[in-house]
Amino acid sequence: MANILDTTASAGHYSGAVDMECDLLVLGAGPGGYSAAFRAADLGANVVMVERYATLGGVCLNVGCIPSKALLHVAAVMDEARHMAELGVNFGPPAIELATLRSHKEKVVGKLTSGLAAMAKMRKVPIVRGYGTFVGSHHVEVEETTGSAQEKTGTKKVIGFKKAVIAAGSQAVRLSFLPDDPRVLDSTGALALKEIPKRMLILGGGIIGLEMGTVYSSLGARLDVVEMLDGLMQGADRDLVKIWQKMNTPRFDHILLKTKTVAARATADGIEVTFAPTEEGGTAPAPQTYDLVLQAVGRTPNGRKIGADKAGVYVSERGFIPVDIQMRTNVAHIFAIGDIVGQPMLAHKAVHEGHVAAEVAVGELQNKPELSRATFEARVIPSVAYTDPEVAWVGLTEDQAKAQGIKVKKALFPWSAWGAPSPTGATKVLPSSCSRTMATKHRNMANMVGLWVAVWSVSTLAI
Ligand SMILES: Cc1cc2nc3c(=O)[nH]c(=O)nc-3n(C[C@H](O)[C@H](O)[C@H](O)COP(=O)(O)OP(=O)(O)OC[C@H]3O[C@@H](n4cnc5c(N)ncnc54)[C@H](O)[C@@H]3O)c2cc1C
Repeated sequence: MANILDTTASAGHYSGAVDMECDLLVLGAGPGGYSAAFRAADLGANVVMVERYATLGGVCLNVGCIPSKALLHVAAVMDEARHMAELGVNFGPPAIELATLRSHKEKVVGKLTSGLAAMAKMRKVPIVRGYGTFVGSHHVEVEETTGSAQEKTGTKKVIGFKKAVIAAGSQAVRLSFLPDDPRVLDSTGALALKEIPKRMLILGGGIIGLEMGTVYSSLGARLDVVEMLDGLMQGADRDLVKIWQKMNTPRFDHILLKTKTVAARATADGIEVTFAPTEEGGTAPAPQTYDLVLQAVGRTPNGRKIGADKAGVYVSERGFIPVDIQMRTNVAHIFAIGDIVGQPMLAHKAVHEGHVAAEVAVGELQNKPELSRATFEARVIPSVAYTDPEVAWVGLTEDQAKAQGIKVKKALFPWSAWGAPSPTGATKVLPSSCSRTMATKHRNMANMVGLWVAVWSVSTLAI
């Protein structure tokens, strides 16, 4: 972002007692934070990481990418086993032991989060457990937390830093009209997998909602999904979403597009939800009652919860912290990375941004221009919906290319045309019209505008 340093906010000066000092303070230990902390420590900086929860790894490892993928793997195996009946091999209906399934998911998470703790120890990066807020442009106060959530102990610590990286992430958006009821969950609650509902409503037809819906439906729930826009999985090209939708329609009783949820109330029978059309003249179904309602209407950044103003760091109305291509905020010695700086909210983006921020910060501290010149200028960032089939893409979509006036050719290869064991799906390549033929696509990668895949398993693809 140009001229970011022109944005001014008034920084406070802290002159109280200081308990710890470091070169680089990292606020938040998600994929962005731990990547920045580890990279900076590897480069020789004295780093301190502040995290409010007991385990490292942030949303992704604890309540996001990893547990959802552990459950999606189980769902995919169950679906594949069911599918085998059509081929003459019948495994019978599954007997689901929820407690064992939960413990499998927790083991997967535990292995990775404890691995991170070991990596921090190996690098001598101290973790200060607690809720951190800026109290000045070179100081963060940490209110110690304990237990599995964020219970405060009352103890406070002030850490002084030369440079800081804000990696405080995001949280699920909560719709204010939904009742406070255990049958209304966000993705974190849904991942806890307390029970399998008979009827489940997914609010929001984006990737997170559809991934969680896949898990619950494979385990036996019937799904409705309500989406304000005119299609599910927005951001993906419609022709490939069509493949996904064709295969997934049997999971749903209703796919409510151009429809919004306007009210909900808790009753003895479930959560009664009222719908309305988003367009004048549109239609919406009568109120429906669900055993479980999953709110998956997006995530909001935590920028307004860290006392950023005390450090002079500008935070947008919506809670995002704008940064330049070096991940620098409007305050020259404070960087920000990951979900808190903007879309796409993806773990691999946070990791890469973390590395850039660490290199610039440490490069400046150590006067090493080869490091301090690092930038984050990703031309493309891959995305994957780990639904069944998975949908993966990188680069511009066909629709985006059209909207931007970029002429593209289109090569769509239906997987039914080859002899794979599960020939469902398609690969789409969008070379810009100035590239030569598909046969030379590898030499012309720079001209490739987008690559799209809807397949059974992305991991089997070698592109
Ligand atoms: C259900 C789900 C599935 C997902 N699946 C994928 C996927 O498959 N692939 C993918 O790329 N992305 C996925 N994501 C998104 C991914 O989890 C995020 O993009 C990623 O975690 C962002 O990393 P981050 O470091 O910016 O922030 P976070 O992971 O949010 O970490 C921020 C950390 O900061 C801590 N923190 C915040 N404020 C404070 C404070 N004041 N003091 C101390 N600590 C604080 C938090 O406790 C947290 O540990 C998924 C998300 C969800 C919810």
